[in-house]
Amino acid sequence: MITIEGKSVFGGVSIGKLMFYKRNEKVIRRTHVDDVDAEWKRFEEAKNTAIDQLKVLYDKAIEDVGEANAMIFEIHQMMLDDLDYLESIEGIIRTQSVNAEYAVSTTADNFAQMFASMDDAYMQGRAADVKDVSERVLDILCGVSNGTREMTEPCIVAADDLAPSETVQLDKEKVLGFATMYGSSNSHTAILARTMNIPAVIGMGEALNPKYDGEMAIIDGFTGTLYVDPDEETLAKMQEKRAKDLEQKELLNQLKGKENVTKSGQKINVYANIGNVSDLGAVLKNDAGGVGLFRSEFLYLENSTYPTEEQQFAAYKQVVESMAGKKVIIRTLDIGADKQVDYFNLAKEENPALGYRAIRICLTRPEIFKTQLRALYRASVYGNLSIMFPMIISVKEVRKIKEIIEEVKAELREEGLPFKEDVELGIMIETPASVMMSRELAKEVDFFSVGTNDLTQYTLAIDRQNLALDEFYDPHHPAVLAMIKMAADNAHAEGKWIGICGELGADLELTEEFLKMGLDELSVSPAMVLPLRKKIRECE
Ligand code: PEP
Ligand code: MG
Repeated sequence: MITIEGKSVFGGVSIGKLMFYKRNEKVIRRTHVDDVDAEWKRFEEAKNTAIDQLKVLYDKAIEDVGEANAMIFEIHQMMLDDLDYLESIEGIIRTQSVNAEYAVSTTADNFAQMFASMDDAYMQGRAADVKDVSERVLDILCGVSNGTREMTEPCIVAADDLAPSETVQLDKEKVLGFATMYGSSNSHTAILARTMNIPAVIGMGEALNPKYDGEMAIIDGFTGTLYVDPDEETLAKMQEKRAKDLEQKELLNQLKGKENVTKSGQKINVYANIGNVSDLGAVLKNDAGGVGLFRSEFLYLENSTYPTEEQQFAAYKQVVESMAGKKVIIRTLDIGADKQVDYFNLAKEENPALGYRAIRICLTRPEIFKTQLRALYRASVYGNLSIMFPMIISVKEVRKIKEIIEEVKAELREEGLPFKEDVELGIMIETPASVMMSRELAKEVDFFSVGTNDLTQYTLAIDRQNLALDEFYDPHHPAVLAMIKMAADNAHAEGKWIGICGELGADLELTEEFLKMGLDELSVSPAMVLPLRKKIRECE
């Protein structure tokens, strides 16, 4: 087995024979011509034929990849009428008395070099386009037909690089994947691969050797790896990965854009949990209705010192902006217990899970808390932000939090910094105390979100970190479910909404029960959004 690493431009796994793309070779020679007018006319005719071909390609691309992506073939037509391009070709023909082929080929090289040397990645990508259109004109001038050999069976197409026109001309039904030696992720080939949902790996360099033509291969578009002549173990692993991916894509096809609604019409919000700005892609891809828990402590865990207000503001702003008006619930930092950060200088504790953590740190070190609240309130004007506080056990804590928030707002007002006055405020229900006090707490806040991971640990008195107790850590325990029900009833009695953001929210065995309790929201890992939607839609 040979393993070749490249750059992934579209995820997915494909398994099949490698077929190297073959072009009709043309040799461009520089020859003298006597009649430069006739030569220029010969070029113009070839150019017009090329434009006609591109019109046909444009129509095919509209069908295959949609109007936006087909645009490239309109741009190619325009490139062939670009004045600089034409002037260069005409100038070479007339001043040097040379053949059109030479003039086109030299112009293409010069223009491609010029694009490639630009700073802008998009413009660099255009070097391939000018080459592509020029090759088309050269094929016509030389009288060779464009293209690859016939594809008799589905295969992975390998090439040094593929021009957009070459990509579109391939029989889409037979292309399992793309593997190229060069190319950029901004190239239209990459864009087309993504639009056509075809796994693709580019930039494998010389390691992708044409001698592998006809060999069995696997593209792992998730990691950017090509396996040639895979061993049995890799093959089995990749087959499984492929099956899982197809299942997920199938769910996506069926359920994207659909409502989270039961057969009898009960609706529930399905949001996603994230720990990082970089998780947003997965949230959007899986069609989550919002972010139900952004564990902001990861910003602290990734830093070697306290993240500044600006750093936090940038992250929160990016999340709310990317979610474009959908709800984003950011939890204030939940440091302590299993999430230790050196620069907090927390003392060693006998029972860290029962110790100095989360809101307890924030309320005793208000300067840290205030920095975070300032960043959050400043980000609130960029979208639909809610703030949530972890590890609450009493009404007193919530009132103290609200006092600090008022101080923060007063500061921002004084500094003339914009913020939303009525940001939704909620608390995590993850201690038995908060459940028992839920009626009173519901009067103080806008929403509850049940942290079943900690609620199970504290209700059952089982350290969630202790592997030896795994068999006793039972989130289905009736005591835990009764706690959730009690919090839900009390939230609703006060007209407030309640969701779950702990792992139990994704437990499909309990979905029906949560619906019966009338929960308003479930927030789960991005990959669980669609399986959960499927389950909800199957419930009565
Ligand atoms: C929970 O306790 O269920 C929760 C969501 O918070 P974390 O897992 O971050 O403690
Ligand atoms: Mg928790």
